[in-house]
Amino acid sequence: MPKKEPVIFFIGWNACINCGACVAVCPQKAGFISPFDTIAVNTPCDIACMVCEDICPVSTITHEPAPKPA
Ligand code: SF4
Repeated sequence: MPKKEPVIFFIGWNACINCGACVAVCPQKAGFISPFDTIAVNTPCDIACMVCEDICPVSTITHEPAPKPA
């Protein structure tokens, strides 16, 4: 299976109900938990499985391709 391109996640903070589902399902575990108990933002995710986006009950997680390393 080809390696996926890394992504950066964004969370719509006004919609987030802080349920923690995105963290619970994340295969990156502790390294991907933000201080807000959501998945990390501003940290490139190189797994890009997108299960956090799928599980979010308020569909407030989005992503963009991560910037290429300089
Ligand atoms: S799954 Fe969605 S609503 Fe729940 S903590 Fe994560 S971003 Fe917030």
